[in-house]
Amino acid sequence: MYGTVLSTTSPTPSLVRLVLGGPGLAGFAGPGPDGDTDAYVNIAIPPAGAPYTAPFDPDEVKATHPREWWPVRRRYTVRAWDAARGELTLDVVVHGTEGVAGPWARAARPGDLLVLTGPGSGYRPDPTAAWHLMVGDESALPAIAASLEAVPAGVPVVVRLLCDGPDHELALSSPGALDLQWIHRTGGAADTTALAEAVAALRFSEGRVHAFVHGEAEEIRAVRRHLLGERGLERGDMSCSPYWRRTMTDEAWRAVKRDFVAAMDADLP
Ligand SMILES: Cc1cc2nc3c(=O)[nH]c(=O)nc-3n(C[C@H](O)[C@H](O)[C@H](O)COP(=O)(O)OP(=O)(O)OC[C@H]3O[C@@H](n4cnc5c(N)ncnc54)[C@H](O)[C@@H]3O)c2cc1C
Repeated sequence: MYGTVLSTTSPTPSLVRLVLGGPGLAGFAGPGPDGDTDAYVNIAIPPAGAPYTAPFDPDEVKATHPREWWPVRRRYTVRAWDAARGELTLDVVVHGTEGVAGPWARAARPGDLLVLTGPGSGYRPDPTAAWHLMVGDESALPAIAASLEAVPAGVPVVVRLLCDGPDHELALSSPGALDLQWIHRTGGAADTTALAEAVAALRFSEGRVHAFVHGEAEEIRAVRRHLLGERGLERGDMSCSPYWRRTMTDEAWRAVKRDFVAAMDADLP
């Protein structure tokens, strides 16, 4: 499966919004109106100089080419899926000139093709929860923005988001009663615990909270530890995923992610 880039825009200085469409998305089973709000696709980008171009079948490339030519895999959240128009929106963080997916998105132009598989998913705001808590950085912003749209009318939803500064903030809305606060990085070591501190400073409402905590691995781990240890959340009431890890490429991160998640699980009995 592949999408044709229809448009690229920059909602913030570090975000590229790709709208994909075209015949290559026929059969894409995007989330419906009541579907999960953290749905993601696996994208596949050929390494520079690869002897093949999109569209391609990633499995076939792997079967017929040496490893150095295998496509680079990355995961991106379905920010929006318009089934009627067959249009898929992805919001990609561009973190300087580093990486593969970020620079690809920055350079993308209408007509470019992006091979993808999926989607997979695992979370939707529980309509029976008394209130919702959503915490993350720019990589979790697409999932949080999509999730906000699925919070039942009037239900409190507290959002704490980390970003580089005021011009990196995005307008967000929800039918729920939204309490949104952006936290700005300072560039120091304190950035790692800024989200956990923002959550620790919250006065929790009465009743069962359903939490969504996704983003940078160490930041997410600190928030998770606080929620389970000091706030007494049940594990089942929290969706927690370390999307990426500071200083590691996605390949390096995937190689140690299982051990990290096991250690994170063991943080608290
Ligand atoms: C289920 C899932 C859904 C995701 N959804 C999104 C999404 O919708 N949008 C999105 O932007 N990301 C999303 N991510 C995270 C994204 O897959 C990773 O950030 C990925 O590593 C980026 O690839 P890259 O090729 O740009 O950088 P890489 O080659 O993986 O990394 C190069 C360098 O950049 C650093 N880096 C990676 N990501 C970031 C970042 N966000 N900010 C600052 N530095 C970074 C790395 O630590 C490394 O030092 C998601 C991840 C998962 C698992």
